[in-house]
Amino acid sequence: MAAAAEPLLAGFTPEDAEQLLAEHFGIQGRATPLNGYRDRNFCVDTEEGRFVLKLMSQEVGKETLTLWVDAMQRLAAAGIAAPQPFATLQGNPWGMLADCNPFWLTRWVEGVPLAEVQARPAALHTAIGALVGQVQLALADCTHPALDRQFQWDLRNGERVSAANFAQLPEAGDRRVLHESLAGVAVGLGDSRHGEDLRNLLAVGPIHGDANDYNLLVSTEGEQPKLSGLIDLEDLSLGWLRGDLAISAAYAMLDQEDPVAVLVDMVRGYHVVSAIPEQELPALWPLACLRMCVSISLGAVARAADPDNSYISVTLQPGLRFLRQSLRISGPEVHQKLRQVCGFGAEEAKGKEQRGQKQRLARRHAVLGPNLSLSYDNPLHMVRGAGRYLFEASGRGYLDAINNVPHVGHGHPQVVQATTAQLHRHNTNTRYLDDTVLEYAEALVATLPAPLSVVHFVNSGSEANELALRLARVHSGGRDFVVLDAAYHGNTQALIDLSPYKFQGPGGQGRQAHVQVATLPDRYRGTYGYDEADAGPLYAQDLDRCLASIAERGAKPAAFLCEAIPGCGGQVVLPPGFLAAAFAKTRASGALCIADEVQTGFGRVGSHFWAFETQGVIPDIVTVGKPMGNGHPLGAVITTPAIASSFHNGMEFFNTFGGNPVACATGLAVLRVLEEEGLQENARLVGEQLLTGLRQLADQHPILGDVRGLGLFLGAVCVRDRATQEPAAEQARHIVHLMRDDGILLSTDGPLHEVIKIKPPLVFQTEDADFLLQRLDSALQRTASLSFQP
Ligand code: PMP
Repeated sequence: MAAAAEPLLAGFTPEDAEQLLAEHFGIQGRATPLNGYRDRNFCVDTEEGRFVLKLMSQEVGKETLTLWVDAMQRLAAAGIAAPQPFATLQGNPWGMLADCNPFWLTRWVEGVPLAEVQARPAALHTAIGALVGQVQLALADCTHPALDRQFQWDLRNGERVSAANFAQLPEAGDRRVLHESLAGVAVGLGDSRHGEDLRNLLAVGPIHGDANDYNLLVSTEGEQPKLSGLIDLEDLSLGWLRGDLAISAAYAMLDQEDPVAVLVDMVRGYHVVSAIPEQELPALWPLACLRMCVSISLGAVARAADPDNSYISVTLQPGLRFLRQSLRISGPEVHQKLRQVCGFGAEEAKGKEQRGQKQRLARRHAVLGPNLSLSYDNPLHMVRGAGRYLFEASGRGYLDAINNVPHVGHGHPQVVQATTAQLHRHNTNTRYLDDTVLEYAEALVATLPAPLSVVHFVNSGSEANELALRLARVHSGGRDFVVLDAAYHGNTQALIDLSPYKFQGPGGQGRQAHVQVATLPDRYRGTYGYDEADAGPLYAQDLDRCLASIAERGAKPAAFLCEAIPGCGGQVVLPPGFLAAAFAKTRASGALCIADEVQTGFGRVGSHFWAFETQGVIPDIVTVGKPMGNGHPLGAVITTPAIASSFHNGMEFFNTFGGNPVACATGLAVLRVLEEEGLQENARLVGEQLLTGLRQLADQHPILGDVRGLGLFLGAVCVRDRATQEPAAEQARHIVHLMRDDGILLSTDGPLHEVIKIKPPLVFQTEDADFLLQRLDSALQRTASLSFQP
């Protein structure tokens, strides 16, 4: 309960404190208020020196008070500088105000809070670690029953408590950091690590539980700051012994340039006093992160209840900064450093992991078929995703700069909630009336220009394009199609036939007679460059050739199918006026214009919700998929009433799963999150930052021949030689691998496989763009000095 909720505490003034001192301790002194999370604390200056008067919440019972006094005596006996109670006139270690609020007077422990010490030598952190160990030893055989308490701050409840409360943070970006951090903690604590759950291995005992940066006191009088004491025993409880060290480390690491070094120094000090069992060591880093999650989550709850108490949220901003920083730190690497400082040898589990990886690859190859491709030479085994991050089984997190399906962030809690809630309610095929489905279809249509107002739901991008082909054929009466060179539109036979990326590639069967391939308007490699103002209409002229070929073979065109930023083409931004001219030619031939927005839709391009809008055109049919359900299978074909009515030709349209209530509830949640979190605008801002940064990198690194893209859909073209534009596919691949080692996921694309592609979830932040650009700069440098076979 916060102080404000207890009137006696809230209204207690320094004058009241001075009166209490005289009455109960026979002491004359001056009281000045101190910070407190829940209590009213005063610094009291008397002739006999300095004291602290603490007036506690009425929730603190007698049993707890006896525990605290017992613990203080144990610490004193162990020679630890901690508060000691001063007897009341009745000879008791505490008194009771109005029969309900306990108070006591303790001697002041000299020093300034660690939080206020900027320059900290390693020895200070080692001393803190040692002190935490000493405190645990001093408390080790305390069996007081009040130690066993149900306690929100107990790290054993930490994951549950944080998950249940972080939604109280007012900022979506802060909630995301908590969501991400908790996922990292879960993996780090062993959801998947070596098949062992560390939570079950951690020893439990009496712990201080709150050796934070305000409770650790430091003397700054000597040449070097020195640890002078520990205050505040109120979180004493049973808990994970190593959790105590992690708790202390969590605060000591705040706003430190190298938090891992701080942890290493603390572990060094602790391990000497109280040896850490080898099996518990990997838990330290995740437990420190978990403590910060608990502190921030409970701080947010307390803040909501008591907005004026600034001490409650003293850790909020530094804590969030720490978590942001920690997400980029590799947990397994931290563990290796801790093993070193504890004198443990190389880890045996590594070999076990490698064998597991080999087996998994063999099983996949056998049971899922050999041509299901994997990213990276040494593929990643992902076990969790949250927000901007994917987590590997080892506990390492990767900043996701490539997956555009988890559009609003991996496992967005609001989306997960919407999906599961609807799963609990009901899920059916489309033969019944359903308000969620209607609401979603209307919301979707509202994002599109008229006359695109009829939605046919499907389950994937391929299905959407497949259905679009049917609509186009029925409405136009034609059977032939025009597509752009290097395009990919889906995995069905009909779509492979419309995907030059596939039918012209390895294993492809070449172009079918009903398909015409128009030139990809690539201003970097194509005939018309960036300096050609009319590049759009000039490239569109190739549509004339395609449409003429169709006529020549005595056929009729059904549609021109095209992405507004060809993805497999290598994130090629179409030149202005291209679609307008191409659509005009297509329509003049009686065919329809289909925009494949499977990759580019839903705000990704930043300036607009749909990529086709950047070209100032309105297609006849729009196909969508990938990001629509944030990973839940969901796709759609959106068209005009006229085309929908042609499709209504007597044959029923039925799709068992397409547009089921669960999928639609999911899609609706995605639209809401996009809006609430301003993610289209984020894509615009962060996308511009990335593009500018990539251009600067291209100025310094000749390997980058071209950088292009819109919003968070970007490509960087790698060439061996700018003059010849000879593609540097091997280098691009190498760079992508280096980036993975640095914890960032990317991939390559383009018909020549030389384009590094960037298309992160739209929650990608400015700080992520900075990080990516900085690591890319380094990867480009490291690659430049290598030689690659031509
Ligand atoms: N169209 C485009 C432009 C695509 O990139 C893809 C998938 N990469 C598809 C359609 C097919 O989508 P799905 O794999 O969901 O069937």
